[in-house]
Amino acid sequence: MCKPRLIPSSVLRHIKPRPAAPSPRFTPLSTTPAPASTTQIRPLASWWSSKMPPSDVAKHLQADHDHIFENNRKWAAEQKVKNPAFFDKLSSGQEPDYLWIGCSDSRVPAEQITGLGPGECFIHRNIANMVPNTDLNVMSVVNYAVNHLHVKHIIVCGHYGCGGVKAALTPQDLGILNPWLRNIRDVYRLYETELDAIEDAEKRCDRVVELNVHEQCRNIIKTAAVQQSYAQNQYPIVHGWVFDMKDGLLKDLNIDFVKVLGQIQKIYNLTG
Ligand SMILES: [Zn+2]
Repeated sequence: MCKPRLIPSSVLRHIKPRPAAPSPRFTPLSTTPAPASTTQIRPLASWWSSKMPPSDVAKHLQADHDHIFENNRKWAAEQKVKNPAFFDKLSSGQEPDYLWIGCSDSRVPAEQITGLGPGECFIHRNIANMVPNTDLNVMSVVNYAVNHLHVKHIIVCGHYGCGGVKAALTPQDLGILNPWLRNIRDVYRLYETELDAIEDAEKRCDRVVELNVHEQCRNIIKTAAVQQSYAQNQYPIVHGWVFDMKDGLLKDLNIDFVKVLGQIQKIYNLTG
């Protein structure tokens, strides 16, 4: 039997050779259009052409900038009409029940796909929704959300077709991204037997997305903040979800928080 390839050709197609400039970045990995937005923001840079004179480029950039501010003024006025006390409440402080840790991918807008509004969700996003123990940024977010905002739910949300996961499955030097992607490669190594048995490259990548969410949930449960708060308050609960941009639906991976916590605490118990 031929051993499944770790790096599918569909992934390799999406990875550009390392350019001299600008710095390496993920290429768009899907032609699927972004979910319909309630705002009227134009797709940025849709006007760009390498043949355009510099003065036209500057004009378009200014128009893009101005358009955002037009949207903002419109949004602020709409909120006041709907609820005259909206901004008084917003400026009085935040008490979100949810912490969302999601991918930076522009097609996964946390608040729009969950129907949550301003003040309801504390949000952290990075490439491939990671929670590395050594990343002070995400660790500070978790700590602040649990110990100061007293969130009741922590959600790690991945998404199928994740460019970060696809890049991690590619044997290529991606510069500063290497240490970040290494965390995803480590997830693959943990589940190597299961993943190698999946013949279809896209399905294998999707499974890495799900397993990565599982592992990032575990990383959150390993933190002292979560363990100590749960021991005292019975919250927060940690959830693992995956967004499918082909139909706009969230999939609950049904992570058994209490069971995982018990498993984790055999080695990582920080409640003492
Ligand atoms: Zn992603």
